[in-house]
Amino acid sequence: MAKPDVRTLAAQVVHEVRGQGRSLGTALPTAEQHLGEGSSRALLRELCYGSLRYAPRLDAWLDLLLAQPLRRRDAPVGALLQVGLYELFFLRTPDYAVVSETVRAARGFKRPWAAKLVNAVLRNARRREGELAALAESEEVAHYAHPAWLIRRLRADWPRDWQRILDENNARAPMTLRVNAMRTTPEAYRERLAEAGLGAQPARYAADALVLDEPADVAQLPGFAAGEVSVQDAAAQLAAGLLDAQTGQHVLDACAAPGGKTAHILERARGEVDLTAVEVDAGRMRRVEDTLARLGLSARLATADLAQPEAWWDGRPFERVLLDAPCSATGVIRRHPDIKSLRREEDIEDLTRRQQALLDVAWSVLAPGGRLVYATCSILRTENALNIERFLRRRDDARELPIEAPWGQAESHGRQILPGEDGMDGFYYACLGKDGA
Ligand code: SAM
Repeated sequence: MAKPDVRTLAAQVVHEVRGQGRSLGTALPTAEQHLGEGSSRALLRELCYGSLRYAPRLDAWLDLLLAQPLRRRDAPVGALLQVGLYELFFLRTPDYAVVSETVRAARGFKRPWAAKLVNAVLRNARRREGELAALAESEEVAHYAHPAWLIRRLRADWPRDWQRILDENNARAPMTLRVNAMRTTPEAYRERLAEAGLGAQPARYAADALVLDEPADVAQLPGFAAGEVSVQDAAAQLAAGLLDAQTGQHVLDACAAPGGKTAHILERARGEVDLTAVEVDAGRMRRVEDTLARLGLSARLATADLAQPEAWWDGRPFERVLLDAPCSATGVIRRHPDIKSLRREEDIEDLTRRQQALLDVAWSVLAPGGRLVYATCSILRTENALNIERFLRRRDDARELPIEAPWGQAESHGRQILPGEDGMDGFYYACLGKDGA
């Protein structure tokens, strides 16, 4: 059987995300399996990420270019057109190659008209380039390449910063490493990277972090398989310091997968904390298992719904609780551009309610005198400072513990890092203390 070509696969991934609600993180690896290692995988990745990053703009361009909208069942052809437009205007592939390769991919679509349409739209797009550029200037959704509801909400929450946030969301995120403090130091590991031909710089605020000058495959990272290093954004690496788990403490990581913070808490405590990691999704819990195995760490893993403590809790209160809550992920759009297509405005209220419910449960298992760190990778105030405000209003045994930190900005409660600030992802943290030691 002929190998599927890279543009067909890219269109399939874009369609699975936009038409079927799959995440890029699950759709792309499946598609990658059809290609060998090397440059065609890199192109597939670029086409998928780019087409999703600019999807709102590409939608607007397609509206202009198509005489009539495609029928719902022809959405896969729309996805191929998006991929074609992205390659035409954002990559250096010569026009003739984009057109001929995308038309060739369209021939595989079992729709006799598709190749002709793709040919006409892509050629026309180049001819009408000036109009497309004008549209990307004048229309906000096309210009910022974000859905209208998200632009509106970010503008309301961040009247001074919203444009910068939108631009940062369209930028490429750096690859940041977390050096395993139990095995080596960032300085020593940086030298090992240099020997392997990889440049890296210390991160400004995360003590264990190194930011690679250029992203690399993890297989190229010295000692990765042996657990010397992990991949984790610097903002996410601030959680373990805020939690400040001490030797021997009983610690809960309440929403644990894929386990980046679980592992960091253990590394910092040299494995000498009694840590329980709860995760509702069994598939994602396997990733926690793999991570801990690679790093040679151990924790008690409970695949369960946090909201049902009777299923996972032995009744012994925790001195430290990290609640890294499920959220809109609006702070990490630069790493997950599929969020622009997958997230709906109506999800936000639902997420906020779930976060409050999880906060209540996490609080109920915290020992008096204990500390809870609430974290999200959201930049929407309702999921962050306003959630903490609601929580503090209904709990009189809770008080906020101030975060004295040079990073991010103080909110009415907690601290917010906006995407791209000091190279970090958008992240929110608040620390809460329970009265009565
Ligand atoms: N702390 C993780 C890390 O640093 O690698 C990331 C956690 S992610 C933001 C949130 C996780 O919470 C997801 O894996 C999700 O499946 C899990 N989750 C959502 N609802 C949950 C619940 N009711 N009980 C336990 N886990 C839940």
